[in-house]
Amino acid sequence: MKQDPADDSDHRRPATKLVQGGRRKDWTGLASGGAIVSPPVWRASTILYDDTAALKAGLKTNEDGKLFYGRRGTPTQWSLADALTELEPGAAGTMLFPSGAAAVAGALTSVLKAGDHLLMVDTVYDPTRRLCDAYLTPRGVTTTYYDPLIGAGIDSLVQANTRAIFMESPGSLTFEVQDVPAIVAMAKSRGLVTLIDNTWATPLYLPVIAMGVDLSIIACTKYIVGHSDAMIGSVTSAPATWGDLRLTAQVLGQHVGPDDAWLAMRGMRTLDVRLARHRDSALEIAHWLCSRPEVSSVLHPAIPESPGHEIFLRDFRGSSGLFSFALARGSADRFVDSLHHFGIGYSWGGFESLALPVDPSRCRSVSSWQGGPLVRLQIGLEDVRDLIEDLGQALRTI
Ligand SMILES: *Cc1c(COP(=O)(O)O)cnc(C)c1O
Repeated sequence: MKQDPADDSDHRRPATKLVQGGRRKDWTGLASGGAIVSPPVWRASTILYDDTAALKAGLKTNEDGKLFYGRRGTPTQWSLADALTELEPGAAGTMLFPSGAAAVAGALTSVLKAGDHLLMVDTVYDPTRRLCDAYLTPRGVTTTYYDPLIGAGIDSLVQANTRAIFMESPGSLTFEVQDVPAIVAMAKSRGLVTLIDNTWATPLYLPVIAMGVDLSIIACTKYIVGHSDAMIGSVTSAPATWGDLRLTAQVLGQHVGPDDAWLAMRGMRTLDVRLARHRDSALEIAHWLCSRPEVSSVLHPAIPESPGHEIFLRDFRGSSGLFSFALARGSADRFVDSLHHFGIGYSWGGFESLALPVDPSRCRSVSSWQGGPLVRLQIGLEDVRDLIEDLGQALRTI
């Protein structure tokens, strides 16, 4: 859905936008009067036109927010896209994708073509690395991985054919915070496009379009849906890259089912309060882990020893519920198997806590992880005292 990015008269704060987002009267009301609170699930493939003149007119306009064909969405998907766009001041619009991985692929392929060079952060989510190595490379796009702490020094890696810089901050598994303003300033001076995977902070804690990033990618599967029961991705774009993003999503046939879009919209209403609880509990646990002799380091952007901590303090409005810590000795597998309140499984951002033994050396080419056995925790909405008791008993078993 397209917004007018020049309109900066909207001073509502994010929590208010989450409550009001996507609830346009023409999506919630009836011509006969009255309106419901939330846009309902509209299921559609065929859209019926009044007559052949309306059919032909529809072909010409290709307008957002107009029923055309099911693949272009209904008010259910439009309201979600609209609400996501509103969270990023300065954005032109948001395209939805069937997963976070599809959103990453859609954003990158909307920017890159054969012959281009991409600068990719070394601590990127592993499937994004695989997209570069297994899909983009054979199709003529070269990738150079860079140190997440490189900052303005990224200038030295730019080649004549460099087209884009991809960031993820903090980094996957090891949580290095990137100097987004420095990288954006360099990119703008060289005419490069910037993309960021903003799944961890969400626009609530890092509104990246206002910071000058062109494309903000979110795996909505995580905090936006928030209940571990649907998969969706989104890309929100600044005006300059919006046309290519929209075209790419449309020609690749990207579509999100209305039931999943509705679940994501439902999740978004409580995003602010859920994130606050994830943030507070994760901070309490991170500080508690710092005091434990069995733990050698805690990789959480709000912990002073964590790489990029000063940049985190400067740029972020908050931290979320995912972080890692290293054991001084023993086995990460044994530790995770000893937990009772933490599920063992991929993904994160739901209401429930999860724990995973992780090995960053599997998916790094520039930096290398030197610490002890690493555990990644997703801190859910349980009572933090129960979680700390559980972590304490598991630490004693190793
Ligand atoms: C999970 C995740 C993705 C991919 O999202 P899916 O919906 O699982 O495809 C992308 N980036 C990050 C940082 C993630 O954690």
